[in-house]
Amino acid sequence: MGKYLVGVDVGGTNIKLALMTRALEPVAFTSFPTRVEDGYDRISQQMIRQIEKLASENGVSPDEIAAIGMGLPGTVDTARQKTVYLSILQWDDMNPCEKLGEYFHVPCRIENDANLNALGEYHFTFRREIDNMVLLTLGTGIGSGIILRGRLYGGTSNHGAELGHMTIVADGGRTCLCGRPGHWEAYCSGTALERYVAQRLADFPDSLLHREIAAAGRYDNRQLFQCLQQGDPLAQETFSQFLRYLAVGIANVMKILAPDLIVLGGGLSQAGEVLFSPLEGEVRKHLIDPGQFCPIVPAQLNVRAGAYGACVLASEAL
Ligand SMILES: [Zn+2]
Repeated sequence: MGKYLVGVDVGGTNIKLALMTRALEPVAFTSFPTRVEDGYDRISQQMIRQIEKLASENGVSPDEIAAIGMGLPGTVDTARQKTVYLSILQWDDMNPCEKLGEYFHVPCRIENDANLNALGEYHFTFRREIDNMVLLTLGTGIGSGIILRGRLYGGTSNHGAELGHMTIVADGGRTCLCGRPGHWEAYCSGTALERYVAQRLADFPDSLLHREIAAAGRYDNRQLFQCLQQGDPLAQETFSQFLRYLAVGIANVMKILAPDLIVLGGGLSQAGEVLFSPLEGEVRKHLIDPGQFCPIVPAQLNVRAGAYGACVLASEAL
């Protein structure tokens, strides 16, 4: 019986790999670019080569691998172990881990990547203190995963836990990445915050943030948080718009699930108190009673979370 687990996190930009012992002690982590145009067969070959390379660099022989877990960017029916819909890769109605499992002669499991992010953050950081956790990753959209009583919760056929696609604006809402109007992630993802700034830039020609963007020749949300601390009006106005929607959604999650903890991931979560302190105040305004509130904290693993969670999934295949 092999002594190691492999976690694979397949993203639209990069594929991340983690190697761990069967006791879930991290050994190594790496990533390589996803060449979507190569298609499933060639990408599978690339994954196999990269796993062998990672193993040999760490003194592990391929036949010491015991199981593989894989996270995929889309809907995964975990009971059938088949994808339903993967928007970027178009690997629909299949098990994309099958070729890896056949090659290494080991069991393999697949899951939605956002769910594995939550499983990774939970298992390696928060598991000892809490049972119920929600992870929200603010990036291009909002990735979400729910842990209930220490286990991933995806609902019937794993179609649930899609918090980013909660409809929060019923009439005339912004179009979400999924093509439908009014979804939460269209209002408070990292990309949504960038868009607020782009839309209001011309209205604040003298603001510090405007000058910083002009000097740098580009914009990213870290600039906004730096200017926010100095009371810049453009930063304040766009941030408060973003914060309002983020707080509404988080308060909804607290009212439905009352988790022990909400974890925020993605680049924005590194902003620190300038984000978390006003967020807490804004969330509290929407709750029915203070007992519904739970702490909101930054994620710890970030880019590693999905591959680490995939190793936890692999351990469950044994
Ligand atoms: Zn949507």
